[in-house]
Amino acid sequence: MNDSPLALLGGDPALTVPGPHFAWPPIEEADRRAVAAQLETAVSIPDRSGIVAELEDALASYLGVRHTVTTCTGTAALHSLYTAAGIGPGDEVIVPALTFHATATPLFHLGARPVLADVDDGGQLDLDDAARRITARTKAVVAVHLWGLPEDMDALVSFAHEHGLMLLEDGSHAHGATWNGRRTGTFGAASAFSLNGPKPLSAGEGGVVATDDSELYYRVLLHGQYNKRCRREIPASHPLARFAVTGMGLKLRIHPLAAALAHSQLPRLDGYLAGRRAIAARMCAALDEVPGVRVPHVSASAGPSWYALPLRYEPAEFEGLPLRRFLDAVHAEGAVEADRPGSTRPLTSHALFRRPGALLPGYAERRGPVPGDFPATEHVHATTLKLPVWHREEDIPLVDAYTEAIAKVAAHHKDLL
Ligand SMILES: *Cc1c(COP(=O)(O)O)cnc(C)c1O
Repeated sequence: MNDSPLALLGGDPALTVPGPHFAWPPIEEADRRAVAAQLETAVSIPDRSGIVAELEDALASYLGVRHTVTTCTGTAALHSLYTAAGIGPGDEVIVPALTFHATATPLFHLGARPVLADVDDGGQLDLDDAARRITARTKAVVAVHLWGLPEDMDALVSFAHEHGLMLLEDGSHAHGATWNGRRTGTFGAASAFSLNGPKPLSAGEGGVVATDDSELYYRVLLHGQYNKRCRREIPASHPLARFAVTGMGLKLRIHPLAAALAHSQLPRLDGYLAGRRAIAARMCAALDEVPGVRVPHVSASAGPSWYALPLRYEPAEFEGLPLRRFLDAVHAEGAVEADRPGSTRPLTSHALFRRPGALLPGYAERRGPVPGDFPATEHVHATTLKLPVWHREEDIPLVDAYTEAIAKVAAHHKDLL
């Protein structure tokens, strides 16, 4: 295989099966039946009943938390999470500079300031950098388990404790991932997850907030689940009960058909993750042999959900060959799912973070972060490529063809210079 010239230069491709090669979520007969049955039961659920209650109960027991609240999107779940956590005008929240923007953007709608902190070379929050950015206004720190690789939660829990900060989690890549056997999303005061299309647990569109704290739970309800649900869930004697009809004025409920899909998927999640772990191990073992391509370091405490396999490209080992050109050659080999992170990128690359005042009142005077402020974040992003992580044994020939395509391009990189 590796003796054939690169497909980009006219040789035979490593893979001849046409793409796309990866689709998520896997839709089975059970999903079709569940969604069709939901059509007959209820397509609007104003309180915590029916499929919404079933999904929330199942999620609470899966995660091992007291309360979960489903929402229309993960972005909405984060908005409700921050609001319920009491984040308000002028408050600062430390978020990694490398994440999907919705980890931080809801903070703009609370008048709060996302304070970006650099990541380390492994893409995890750099706690020394985070510590330097703490001020008297810092309320919380957010752990994002990027690509489903859990953050070091021992370190984050003690960091938050030591600095008197609330620990929150964005688990949107990491449903079912574990740290020391405990599920991500259960280490802090509360967490949010996206249930969007490609996420490990998918509702198509949806989100969820998880917490053990009843006060926080009531405030999540008041933020985005007004009227019936608040009236039935918040005890009449509670001082917040008088706000039940209007809540805080936003309506962010999940659609029952989306809830039915996620509820049908959830019992299969651990099976998907076990499959991904086996295949990720196989991919890492194969790619570990490829000079210039680095597989992620996985702590012995971590049980990743492998939302993707992030690989690091060492340009120096390829005589400066740009990653873009390397990837073009990988694509030409037929490995069309290999790509660079798109929307999960340095937040400084977004106009909204650089100049929030241009769109949002209240941020006019503030100088946003600029490229260069977060060197490790930018370096990690510039040198990352990623692959999907398949979960079925029958995908193994495809998986092996992908790792062979990368090995082939690496072996022939001189032809691309
Ligand atoms: C997908 C995602 C979100 C936003 O979720 P949506 O359901 O798309 O609104 C937030 N944070 C992270 C890390 C994500 O990957």
